[in-house]
Amino acid sequence: MNSVKDKIVLVTGASSGIGAACAKRFAEAGSRLILLARRGDRLQELAGELHRQWGTAVHCLTLDVRDRDGVMSQLTQLPVDWQGVDILVNNAGLSRGLDKLQEGDLDDWEEMIDANVKGLLYVTRAIVPGMVERQGGHIINIGSIAGRHAYPRGNVYCASKAAVRAITQGLKQDLLGTPIRVSEIDPGLVETEFSEVRFHGDRQRASETYHGLTPLTGEDIADLVWFCASRPNHVNISEMLVVPTDQA
Ligand code: NDP
Repeated sequence: MNSVKDKIVLVTGASSGIGAACAKRFAEAGSRLILLARRGDRLQELAGELHRQWGTAVHCLTLDVRDRDGVMSQLTQLPVDWQGVDILVNNAGLSRGLDKLQEGDLDDWEEMIDANVKGLLYVTRAIVPGMVERQGGHIINIGSIAGRHAYPRGNVYCASKAAVRAITQGLKQDLLGTPIRVSEIDPGLVETEFSEVRFHGDRQRASETYHGLTPLTGEDIADLVWFCASRPNHVNISEMLVVPTDQA
């Protein structure tokens, strides 16, 4: 087992759902945390909770992953105590709308592709050179079952997650010969704010997403992220597909 105690873990999209659960899981295991999202108030609240419960050291970054210059400057010039990210959890992402392609909203498409694909690339580009220099690190990308099988009206979101899968596989090749590990976890339905965001705040429609099945929780995914990170250094879990028992 590879202890994550005192490791610096950067979690993007840490203000809710899977990201917040990952922050808690790593805090419980003694890691130091960099939490990134746009809702800084949520991050501060979570940082306070982690500090009270486990004495966790937390650095909050209120940042939009689509902001290329902001990501590159803030992540390449972290405060001295926070340089040297050991584990990067690329989790920030979203879905918008559920439409046939011919009826899709172009703004929704831009947001998904910019956050899920370009945002993930910017963060990775900013962090990985330091890992190569230090000859150590682990990148864990949160993909989706949607990246493996396109579902009706999910076209652009599915495409963005298929891109995450290609990026994960490509990065693994690019880092061959280094001790840096690259993993991807692809969840099925997880009950978070995801569906509410997808339907632009329509809670009624969001709750229908989970009708008739018991969805996964953010904690279920956080456990797997921690599991990947805590394997011995020579063990790289390349990918994991995890779905609720009653999801097809
Ligand atoms: P949530 O909506 O609860 O969390 C999404 C997180 O991403 C929030 O912290 C949000 O923070 C952040 N985020 C979104 N856009 C940006 C942005 N432009 N810049 C920075 N942060 C951003 O949903 P989940 O926890 O479910 O989603 C986490 C990941 O899991 C996503 O990549 C999603 O695609 C994936 N996933 C989710 C599934 C599900 O069923 N829930 C299934 C499979 C994969 P903020 O708004 O504060 O910026």
